[in-house]
Amino acid sequence: MKYLSTRAPTNSTERKRFGEILLEGLAPDGGLYLPEHYPQVDAATLFKWRDVYMNQGYADLAFEVLSLYIDDIPANDLRALCRKTYTEAVFGTPEIVPLRKLEDVQTDAGVTPLFIEALSNGPTLAFKDMAMQLLGNLFEYELVRRGDELNIFGATSGDTGSAAEYAMRGKKGVRVFMTSPYGRMSPFQQAQMFSLMDENIHNIAIDGVFDDCQDLVKAVSNDLDFKRHYKIGTVNSINWARLMAQVVYYFAGYFQATQSNTEKVSFTVPSGNFGNVCAGHVARMMGLPIDKLVVATNENDVLDEFFRTGVYRVRGSADTHETSSPSMDISKASNFERFVFDLLGRDGTRVNALFNLALAQTGQFDLSADPVFSQAATRYGFESGKSTHSDRLATIQDTFKRFGMMIDTHTADAVKVAREHLSPGVPMVMLETALPIKFAATIVEALGLEPHRPPKFEGIEALPKRVTRMAADPQLIKDFIVQHCA
Ligand SMILES: *Cc1c(COP(=O)(O)O)cnc(C)c1O
Repeated sequence: MKYLSTRAPTNSTERKRFGEILLEGLAPDGGLYLPEHYPQVDAATLFKWRDVYMNQGYADLAFEVLSLYIDDIPANDLRALCRKTYTEAVFGTPEIVPLRKLEDVQTDAGVTPLFIEALSNGPTLAFKDMAMQLLGNLFEYELVRRGDELNIFGATSGDTGSAAEYAMRGKKGVRVFMTSPYGRMSPFQQAQMFSLMDENIHNIAIDGVFDDCQDLVKAVSNDLDFKRHYKIGTVNSINWARLMAQVVYYFAGYFQATQSNTEKVSFTVPSGNFGNVCAGHVARMMGLPIDKLVVATNENDVLDEFFRTGVYRVRGSADTHETSSPSMDISKASNFERFVFDLLGRDGTRVNALFNLALAQTGQFDLSADPVFSQAATRYGFESGKSTHSDRLATIQDTFKRFGMMIDTHTADAVKVAREHLSPGVPMVMLETALPIKFAATIVEALGLEPHRPPKFEGIEALPKRVTRMAADPQLIKDFIVQHCA
């Protein structure tokens, strides 16, 4: 399997191997990597994979999916990496991503089963662990193989940074330098990150807001000599390996929601940077019988606007809302370019014109008059909807009252939007992207109850903290990195 950039000119023949793109973020032309083609899963393979998941488990299913995309790691090594990653000890259940039935919605036209797929039982209680835990093992494997090292430098307002730290802690060849806005994360999130005592994990609390942290990352990364010399890398959601790892749980969700491979299933996905639902798109392109992919947004409705109108309009920081589903508070959806590449018949020249030129000049592009726009729904199965703070409260209350189930704010956005997009007879799987304990304040607002806390997180706020506070100055950060690379 070879990979190409979404901005590669249509006549370009430049391709890369998996091992080359694993440690890279963006392609040099500013595009995102995608496989040259989507491997097709025929009926016999899907039949076999159902058995693999049901009888051998998630790790072996992950190996089956990943081996179609990775041919430069020997099969036995790749299988061992998958088995080391997806264990009951790390993810809490033998199914890894168990499905819970919410209800059967009855209408005159038929019965629609509603399920929640639990993706949040990893070390940081959010779905980012599903991909990041694999990435940690892949990075270590590749760096040891090359005799190389990597300094991961990033900015977080919560979920991504902690998932990265828990994935990279203790890994050979990897250090993590993670900035976060001082005093702005929830006490639970701070405790999760700052209580890590591993020598290769460095928490840096910046006097400023999240945008200041991101600006620091940009400033340091723009110093190309420094970046090269200190082997600075990232783990953001545009990394292809993260997206690929997420494809697996669409298959696992499908097998649990159906009895046979003649049935179709729809998914509703709480979306921010479009990474999660893009993995659903990849699964669908491989031939998994997915009916609809429903994109659920919060008040930051960049994606809902596109799927309703054909206009993709990036927001400025002034009109990016701070919401109670904060992991979906985005001004632009960084993985969206991958879908647009497929929608436009993989025309990299045109993708470059839209994302590199039109967006830079006007902050938007408009596909409403292009015949391909309607294919987003008709050919690719996309629908969308939006949920607000009051919708979240109402959905959390309704789900708790009728089913005794406590859901987090992001999952609530999915449940609200899913109910507006049901097709009679087609099971709807809503992806749970975090546990309620991570966003306790809104749960208390909705229910007047403290969410359940898994035993391993009992009392973490009281643990000793390992964090360095710093002014938002790129030189100070560089000095810190230099000092800790010695
Ligand atoms: C990151 C995140 C999302 C958004 O996922 P994308 O892949 O960016 O669309 C949704 N919910 C939670 C809890 C998250 O951490």
